Amino acid sequence: MTFAVTVLTLYPEMFPGPLGVSLAGRALGEGAWSIEAVQIRDFAKDKHHTVDDTPAGGGAGMVLKVDVLAAAVDHAVAEHPDCPVLAMTPRGAPLTQARVRELAAGPGVTILCGRFEGFDERIFEGRPVEEVSLGDIVLSGGEPAAIALLDACIRLLPGVMGAPSSGAEESFEEGLLEYPHYTRPQEWEGRTIPEVLRSGDHARIAAWRKAMSESDTRSRRPDLWERHGGARVKPASGARRKD
Ligand code: SAH
Repeated sequence: MTFAVTVLTLYPEMFPGPLGVSLAGRALGEGAWSIEAVQIRDFAKDKHHTVDDTPAGGGAGMVLKVDVLAAAVDHAVAEHPDCPVLAMTPRGAPLTQARVRELAAGPGVTILCGRFEGFDERIFEGRPVEEVSLGDIVLSGGEPAAIALLDACIRLLPGVMGAPSSGAEESFEEGLLEYPHYTRPQEWEGRTIPEVLRSGDHARIAAWRKAMSESDTRSRRPDLWERHGGARVKPASGARRKD
Protein backbone atom coordinates (compact mmCIF):
# COMPACT_ATOMS: atom_id res chain seq x y z
CA MET A 1 0.00 0.00 0.00
CA THR A 2 1.26 3.46 -0.89
CA PHE A 3 1.47 6.01 1.93
CA ALA A 4 -0.23 9.01 0.31
CA VAL A 5 1.27 12.39 1.21
CA THR A 6 -0.37 15.68 0.26
CA VAL A 7 1.40 18.92 1.18
CA LEU A 8 -0.51 22.19 1.03
CA THR A 9 2.11 24.89 0.57
CA LEU A 10 2.95 28.21 -1.06
CA TYR A 11 6.24 26.60 -2.18
CA PRO A 12 5.43 23.27 -3.87
CA GLU A 13 8.87 23.33 -5.50
CA MET A 14 10.33 22.51 -2.05
CA PHE A 15 8.99 18.93 -2.41
CA PRO A 16 10.10 16.19 -2.45
CA GLY A 17 13.36 18.12 -1.90
CA PRO A 18 15.57 16.19 0.52
CA LEU A 19 12.97 13.40 0.55
CA GLY A 20 13.90 12.65 -3.06
CA VAL A 21 17.31 11.25 -2.10
CA SER A 22 18.69 8.37 -0.02
CA LEU A 23 16.29 6.12 1.87
CA ALA A 24 13.15 8.20 1.33
CA GLY A 25 14.02 8.83 -2.33
CA ARG A 26 14.44 5.15 -3.04
CA ALA A 27 11.17 4.39 -1.26
CA LEU A 28 9.45 7.07 -3.37
CA GLY A 29 10.82 5.49 -6.53
CA GLU A 30 9.62 2.08 -5.40
CA GLY A 31 6.11 3.37 -4.67
CA ALA A 32 6.19 2.89 -0.88
CA TRP A 33 4.92 6.46 -0.63
CA SER A 34 3.69 9.15 -3.01
CA ILE A 35 3.64 12.92 -2.76
CA GLU A 36 1.49 15.66 -4.22
CA ALA A 37 2.51 19.21 -3.40
CA VAL A 38 -0.52 21.45 -3.83
CA GLN A 39 -0.20 25.22 -4.35
CA ILE A 40 -2.38 26.97 -1.74
CA ARG A 41 -2.49 30.06 -3.98
CA ASP A 42 -4.55 28.12 -6.54
CA PHE A 43 -7.46 28.26 -4.10
CA ALA A 44 -7.54 32.05 -3.84
CA LYS A 45 -10.62 33.36 -5.62
CA ASP A 46 -9.65 36.96 -6.38
CA LYS A 47 -7.88 38.25 -9.45
CA HIS A 48 -4.56 38.68 -7.64
CA HIS A 49 -4.66 35.25 -5.97
CA THR A 50 -4.33 36.80 -2.54
CA VAL A 51 -3.48 34.29 0.18
CA ASP A 52 -2.72 36.60 3.11
CA ASP A 53 -3.92 39.77 4.76
CA THR A 54 -2.91 42.04 7.62
CA PRO A 55 -3.49 40.81 11.19
CA ALA A 56 -6.73 41.84 12.84
CA GLY A 57 -5.83 44.04 15.79
CA GLY A 58 -2.68 45.28 14.09
CA GLY A 59 0.93 44.18 14.35
CA ALA A 60 3.67 43.02 12.05
CA GLY A 61 3.46 40.48 9.27
CA MET A 62 0.67 38.83 7.36
CA VAL A 63 -1.82 36.09 8.21
CA LEU A 64 -2.93 33.27 5.89
CA LYS A 65 -6.58 33.73 4.96
CA VAL A 66 -9.03 31.20 6.37
CA ASP A 67 -11.22 30.99 3.25
CA VAL A 68 -8.23 30.12 1.07
CA LEU A 69 -6.87 27.63 3.60
CA ALA A 70 -10.28 25.95 3.95
CA ALA A 71 -10.62 25.56 0.18
CA ALA A 72 -7.16 23.95 0.01
CA VAL A 73 -7.93 21.62 2.95
CA ASP A 74 -11.32 20.67 1.45
CA HIS A 75 -9.65 19.78 -1.82
CA ALA A 76 -7.14 17.50 -0.07
CA VAL A 77 -9.81 15.88 2.11
CA ALA A 78 -11.96 15.17 -0.96
CA GLU A 79 -8.98 13.44 -2.60
CA HIS A 80 -7.86 11.55 0.52
CA PRO A 81 -10.78 11.34 2.96
CA ASP A 82 -8.99 8.81 5.19
CA CYS A 83 -5.79 10.80 5.68
CA PRO A 84 -5.47 12.96 8.80
CA VAL A 85 -4.84 16.66 8.17
CA LEU A 86 -1.96 18.19 10.12
CA ALA A 87 -0.92 21.84 10.26
CA MET A 88 2.66 22.70 11.13
CA THR A 89 2.73 25.42 13.79
CA PRO A 90 4.82 26.23 16.88
CA ARG A 91 1.46 26.50 18.72
CA GLY A 92 0.77 22.81 18.14
CA ALA A 93 1.42 19.70 20.21
CA PRO A 94 5.11 18.77 20.04
CA LEU A 95 5.62 15.88 17.64
CA THR A 96 6.52 12.57 19.28
CA GLN A 97 7.84 9.29 17.94
CA ALA A 98 4.61 7.66 19.15
CA ARG A 99 2.53 10.00 16.94
CA VAL A 100 4.94 9.41 14.03
CA ARG A 101 4.44 5.67 14.44
CA GLU A 102 0.64 6.07 14.39
CA LEU A 103 0.77 8.24 11.28
CA ALA A 104 3.12 5.82 9.50
CA ALA A 105 0.69 2.96 10.21
CA GLY A 106 -2.13 4.87 8.50
CA PRO A 107 -3.03 5.50 4.85
CA GLY A 108 -1.04 8.72 4.56
CA VAL A 109 -1.11 12.31 5.72
CA THR A 110 -2.08 15.77 4.50
CA ILE A 111 0.12 18.57 5.80
CA LEU A 112 -0.71 22.26 5.80
CA CYS A 113 2.38 24.48 5.81
CA GLY A 114 2.24 28.00 7.19
CA ARG A 115 4.22 31.09 6.20
CA PHE A 116 4.41 34.67 7.43
CA GLU A 117 2.73 35.00 10.86
CA GLY A 118 0.83 31.77 10.37
CA PHE A 119 -2.82 30.74 10.01
CA ASP A 120 -6.10 32.50 10.74
CA GLU A 121 -7.10 30.62 13.91
CA ARG A 122 -10.59 29.87 12.62
CA ILE A 123 -9.25 27.17 10.29
CA PHE A 124 -8.75 25.00 13.40
CA GLU A 125 -12.32 25.62 14.51
CA GLY A 126 -13.91 25.09 11.11
CA ARG A 127 -11.96 22.04 9.91
CA PRO A 128 -10.57 18.93 11.65
CA VAL A 129 -6.93 19.95 11.52
CA GLU A 130 -4.37 18.70 14.06
CA GLU A 131 -1.83 21.33 15.07
CA VAL A 132 1.68 19.90 15.28
CA SER A 133 4.95 21.53 16.33
CA LEU A 134 8.44 20.37 15.58
CA GLY A 135 9.69 21.79 18.86
CA ASP A 136 10.26 25.06 20.66
CA ILE A 137 11.87 26.80 17.71
CA VAL A 138 10.50 29.20 15.11
CA LEU A 139 11.03 28.33 11.45
CA SER A 140 10.29 30.68 8.56
CA GLY A 141 7.77 28.22 7.14
CA GLY A 142 6.06 24.91 7.73
CA GLU A 143 7.83 23.18 4.84
CA PRO A 144 11.05 22.17 6.65
CA ALA A 145 8.90 20.92 9.55
CA ALA A 146 6.77 18.90 7.12
CA ILE A 147 9.90 17.41 5.57
CA ALA A 148 11.17 16.36 9.00
CA LEU A 149 7.82 14.83 9.95
CA LEU A 150 7.57 12.98 6.64
CA ASP A 151 11.13 11.70 6.91
CA ALA A 152 10.31 10.26 10.33
CA CYS A 153 7.20 8.53 8.95
CA ILE A 154 8.72 7.23 5.72
CA ARG A 155 11.60 5.38 7.39
CA LEU A 156 8.99 3.38 9.33
CA LEU A 157 7.00 2.27 6.27
CA PRO A 158 7.16 -1.47 5.57
CA GLY A 159 10.21 -2.43 3.55
CA VAL A 160 11.86 1.01 3.67
CA MET A 161 14.51 0.36 6.29
CA GLY A 162 17.02 -2.43 5.72
CA ALA A 163 17.03 -4.16 9.09
CA PRO A 164 13.50 -4.23 10.54
CA SER A 165 14.88 -4.43 14.10
CA SER A 166 16.84 -1.19 13.90
CA GLY A 167 13.64 0.88 14.17
CA ALA A 168 12.59 -0.68 17.45
CA GLU A 169 15.76 0.08 19.43
CA GLU A 170 15.93 3.72 18.42
CA SER A 171 15.87 6.68 20.78
CA PHE A 172 12.38 7.35 22.25
CA GLU A 173 10.94 3.98 21.21
CA GLU A 174 11.21 2.79 24.81
CA GLY A 175 10.79 6.28 26.21
CA LEU A 176 14.58 6.58 26.56
CA LEU A 177 17.50 7.87 24.52
CA GLU A 178 19.41 5.20 22.65
CA TYR A 179 22.78 3.98 23.99
CA PRO A 180 25.95 5.40 22.34
CA HIS A 181 27.49 3.74 19.29
CA TYR A 182 31.10 2.98 18.32
CA THR A 183 32.82 1.47 15.31
CA ARG A 184 36.38 0.83 14.11
CA PRO A 185 39.08 1.98 14.50
CA GLN A 186 39.38 0.38 17.91
CA GLU A 187 41.68 3.18 19.06
CA TRP A 188 41.38 6.81 17.93
CA GLU A 189 43.53 9.59 19.41
CA GLY A 190 44.13 7.41 22.44
CA ARG A 191 40.42 6.71 22.99
CA THR A 192 39.28 3.12 22.85
CA ILE A 193 35.91 1.49 22.30
CA PRO A 194 34.43 0.36 25.66
CA GLU A 195 35.82 -3.08 26.44
CA VAL A 196 32.40 -4.68 26.97
CA LEU A 197 31.46 -4.06 23.33
CA ARG A 198 34.45 -6.15 22.23
CA SER A 199 33.74 -8.96 24.69
CA GLY A 200 31.36 -10.91 22.45
CA ASP A 201 29.26 -11.51 25.57
CA HIS A 202 25.78 -10.61 24.33
CA ALA A 203 24.17 -10.55 27.75
CA ARG A 204 26.84 -8.20 29.13
CA ILE A 205 26.54 -5.99 26.05
CA ALA A 206 22.76 -5.79 26.39
CA ALA A 207 23.07 -4.93 30.09
CA TRP A 208 25.68 -2.22 29.36
CA ARG A 209 23.52 -0.71 26.62
CA LYS A 210 20.48 -0.64 28.90
CA ALA A 211 22.49 1.01 31.69
CA MET A 212 23.93 3.62 29.30
CA SER A 213 20.52 4.31 27.83
CA GLU A 214 19.15 4.95 31.31
CA SER A 215 22.04 7.04 32.63
CA ASP A 216 22.25 9.17 29.46
CA THR A 217 18.51 9.79 29.52
CA ARG A 218 18.65 10.75 33.20
CA SER A 219 21.49 13.24 32.69
CA ARG A 220 20.62 14.63 29.25
CA ARG A 221 16.83 14.53 29.29
CA PRO A 222 15.49 14.66 32.85
CA ASP A 223 12.04 15.37 31.35
CA LEU A 224 12.03 12.07 29.44
CA TRP A 225 13.48 10.22 32.41
CA GLU A 226 10.79 11.45 34.72
CA ARG A 227 8.03 10.43 32.30
CA HIS A 228 9.65 7.03 31.84
CA GLY A 229 9.98 6.48 35.59
CA GLY A 230 6.49 7.83 36.18
CA ALA A 231 5.05 5.27 33.79
CA ARG A 232 6.96 2.36 35.33
CA VAL A 233 6.80 3.06 39.04
CA LYS A 234 3.19 2.43 39.94
CA PRO A 235 1.98 3.61 43.35
CA ALA A 236 2.07 0.65 45.74
CA SER A 237 -1.19 1.51 47.49
CA GLY A 238 -3.17 1.81 44.29
CA ALA A 239 -3.76 5.44 45.19
CA ARG A 240 -3.49 7.99 42.42
CA ARG A 241 0.01 9.34 41.95
CA LYS A 242 0.30 13.04 42.47
CA ASP A 243 2.06 14.54 39.43
N1 SAH B 1 3.93 33.77 14.38
C1 SAH B 1 4.05 32.37 14.58
C2 SAH B 1 5.26 31.81 13.84
C3 SAH B 1 5.09 31.81 12.35
S1 SAH B 1 6.45 31.07 11.56
C4 SAH B 1 4.22 32.09 16.07
O1 SAH B 1 4.92 32.85 16.74
O2 SAH B 1 3.67 31.11 16.56
C5 SAH B 1 5.76 30.71 10.00
C6 SAH B 1 5.31 29.28 9.79
O3 SAH B 1 6.41 28.43 9.99
C7 SAH B 1 4.24 28.78 10.72
O4 SAH B 1 2.95 29.11 10.29
C8 SAH B 1 4.47 27.29 10.70
O5 SAH B 1 3.83 26.68 9.60
C9 SAH B 1 5.97 27.19 10.49
N2 SAH B 1 6.69 26.90 11.75
C10 SAH B 1 7.50 27.73 12.43
N3 SAH B 1 7.98 27.15 13.53
C11 SAH B 1 7.48 25.90 13.57
C12 SAH B 1 7.60 24.81 14.47
N4 SAH B 1 8.35 24.88 15.57
N5 SAH B 1 6.93 23.68 14.19
C13 SAH B 1 6.15 23.59 13.09
N6 SAH B 1 6.00 24.59 12.20
C14 SAH B 1 6.65 25.73 12.43
